[in-house]
Amino acid sequence: VDFGYKQVAVEDKQKLVGKVFSSVADKYDVMNDLMSFGIHRLWKREFVATSGVRPGARVLDLAGGTGDIAALLADRVGPTGEIIIGDINYEMLSVGRDRMLDRGRHDRMRFVRLNAECLPFPDQHFDAVTIAFGLRNVTDKAAALKDMHRVLKIGGRALVLEFSEVREPLLKPLYDFHSFRVLPRLGALIANDSHSYQYLAESIRKHPNQETLKAMMQVAGFERCDYRNLTAGIVAIHSGYRV
Ligand code: SAM
Repeated sequence: VDFGYKQVAVEDKQKLVGKVFSSVADKYDVMNDLMSFGIHRLWKREFVATSGVRPGARVLDLAGGTGDIAALLADRVGPTGEIIIGDINYEMLSVGRDRMLDRGRHDRMRFVRLNAECLPFPDQHFDAVTIAFGLRNVTDKAAALKDMHRVLKIGGRALVLEFSEVREPLLKPLYDFHSFRVLPRLGALIANDSHSYQYLAESIRKHPNQETLKAMMQVAGFERCDYRNLTAGIVAIHSGYRV
């Protein structure tokens, strides 16, 4: 199925993404706050609050990075639950692990270095799989969605939080100005790396919009696929079930 978005050469993209996140790992959290005026925290809270994840659940948080989603999920799954944080980038995982150790929250979490396109878990293993601000960095999104479906138990749910298409025409020019003018400068100033933040802005622009991602989830085998816009579609929460 051709969803009409361009793919750069697989190896090039993977290398580029690797470099970007290795370079920004130690500044990643502070940059998120600066770039989004702290709103990413609200989006993430909403994402987990509406995830339907229950106490005792086993959850895989893909592209888990420094562990924001996992920390919120830990409160939901409780002491009998289990959270696996999977990420391709060693530096991001190690910042996340240190953060969780500092907060004494590592006991219910496991950190696994992996590629979301090819998950090292058996079929029907998780009650839920989440991926927040990660799917757009994955080269073969169709493969990642398919594997998310494979590792879910029957009745399990996949949830994707990602930048999407802004639905408010008045907001669009402001948003573009922020992404393409402000972001790379902030990146240069704080993380001494404007290229990585240029890449991030471009990856947001190229990411499939709401309807396209929903269709991709359906093709991957998910049922009852749906999405909800947050902040006029700057980000959207997509979900689908394995039935
Ligand atoms: N989920 C975290 C959050 O919301 O703060 C981190 C998001 S960060 C923007 C994107 C993460 O995706 C990075 O940590 C990066 O290493 C990871 N990533 C990129 N490609 C990946 C892949 N193919 N498989 C797993 N993780 C990947």
